[in-house]
Amino acid sequence: MKKSQKTIFLVFVWLCLVPAVSFAENFIHEELDHLAQVYSGHFIVSTDGKSIIWNDGYAMPAGTLEENKSLQAKIEKPVLVDQVDHVHYPAGVIDLAAYFQKNEDPGRIRYEPFSRKMYGDSENEVRTHLVTIDWMPETFKNADGTAQYHVSVTTVNQVNEKLKQISSELDALVKKEPDYKKYLSDPGGTFSWRYIANTNRLSYHSFGMTIDINVGHSNYWQWNVYSLYQKPSENAIKPENIPGKAIVLVNSKAYFVENHQIVTKNNVNFVVDIILSENQKNQLMQQNTEGEIKRDDSNNALINSIMQQALANGNRPIPEDTSFDYYPNQIPWPIVLVFEKNGFIWGGKWHHYDTMHFEYRPELLN
Ligand SMILES: [Zn+2]
Repeated sequence: MKKSQKTIFLVFVWLCLVPAVSFAENFIHEELDHLAQVYSGHFIVSTDGKSIIWNDGYAMPAGTLEENKSLQAKIEKPVLVDQVDHVHYPAGVIDLAAYFQKNEDPGRIRYEPFSRKMYGDSENEVRTHLVTIDWMPETFKNADGTAQYHVSVTTVNQVNEKLKQISSELDALVKKEPDYKKYLSDPGGTFSWRYIANTNRLSYHSFGMTIDINVGHSNYWQWNVYSLYQKPSENAIKPENIPGKAIVLVNSKAYFVENHQIVTKNNVNFVVDIILSENQKNQLMQQNTEGEIKRDDSNNALINSIMQQALANGNRPIPEDTSFDYYPNQIPWPIVLVFEKNGFIWGGKWHHYDTMHFEYRPELLN
């Protein structure tokens, strides 16, 4: 190649490469700026595209996008840009079954240091921001007229005010649609500093900006394994195979059950992971009424060891890349819309669905 040809060739290569690189960088830059704007109380808006600058001057690194990073890796070891890169949450009423086929989990990849810095880096620090609010006090009352349910939420980002607003909009909604009460009674929980079972990742309930509505009318991908077990696993225990009286471990909890009955809590059919041996049963049989067996120091180690065995037997927790069938959603759209209007995304729009779960993530809705 002549020198002039070589120069032209190199310029051509440069022209091809540069826009692609800067496009990706611009995109990240925009996404980071958007994050800083939505949570503007926490950030110095306008980032350098490589980090996000907190009010105290801390520059949190954005990390770099890796093209071939798997979903599992993004879930388990995200960098900040994984949380925002090409995440499109479809607000409003959508065709859930069609969306499910797309295999998207908008908002499920989260960079934990971001939320720890925003909401609190330890259980105690999160607790210093918590307040208790009445949950739908017009609908759910005690005999003396006081609110039946209370939930703990954070004051960071005025999440408490937003949840109060949601609560009163839902009060108004169930006046028109009394059938919806059952989805909203006995809320499954808000604040709870805990790790997701069998992971080293914090549940987002740890930050006080998340609420589970009634568990009994919800679907969660880690529970819905009957359809999976019909295919591959000989290890699945069918309800009819549970002996007359037994202790079983279900979703990491021990239950005493009788009369071959399917194990239920709030009418949710759980998958039985293991039936205990006679010996194990005797050790745990301190409480012989049907229901969850309380953990205490005397039985905790035993339950833990049995659980490890059970999880291994049942191939659980189910790996992220398992493909499974669409679920029949039970949560009515008007409930979802009230949450979305106030900055909360819904876990029912995740391929790894969790229909009781609502989480304050305004960056995905604005
Ligand atoms: Zn939840």
